[in-house]
Amino acid sequence: MTRIVLMGPPGAGKGTQAVKVAERLGVPHISTGAIFRANMAAGTELGSAAERYMQAGEYVPDKLTNAMVTERLSQPDAAGGFILDGYPRTVAQVSELDRILSGLGTRLDRVVEITADVEELVGRLLNRALEQGRADDTEEVIRRRMAVYAQQTEPLVRIYEGRGMLVQVDGMGSMEEVTDRVLAALES
Ligand code: AMP
Repeated sequence: MTRIVLMGPPGAGKGTQAVKVAERLGVPHISTGAIFRANMAAGTELGSAAERYMQAGEYVPDKLTNAMVTERLSQPDAAGGFILDGYPRTVAQVSELDRILSGLGTRLDRVVEITADVEELVGRLLNRALEQGRADDTEEVIRRRMAVYAQQTEPLVRIYEGRGMLVQVDGMGSMEEVTDRVLAALES
């Protein structure tokens, strides 16, 4: 049960939980957002192509994202399992992930959705922006991210539910509580 997708709205703690759960399961944590940010910092072609979408709170086009994920999942460390954080995010990426994994002779085991109240999340992200001096995380951009998640990513939850792969975990509570819930959900 180690080929896992972790989903959840912005601010729900998905990234933090993905790191913790990957550590506990001994598999790599693969975050598309982190790979994009690393490419931006290193000034690669991929980084500069992704930058303007990311800064507007929009999704990077599937073509760029899919190529990057294909490359990453083909690395030897992902052969025994992985936690995918931030991918798939669109219906087209669901099919693409199926295709990538079947090309590697494997498939997904579970999809975990961390759930949380939208207004609570907007508040958390605004606080984080203030504390960390992220001036570009305005309320407008944060709300745009929530809307993009609802429109483009929520439908994926229904797809995986239909496949009987989905587990939902309440994201409210301490970091440790939520990690324990995710691990328990994966064992059930
Ligand atoms: P994250 O760190 O997961 O919140 O991702 C940060 C940003 O990276 C997102 O707001 C998108 O602009 C971009 N991104 C990450 N993953 C994807 C994806 N699967 N498809 C398109 N854009 C993505």
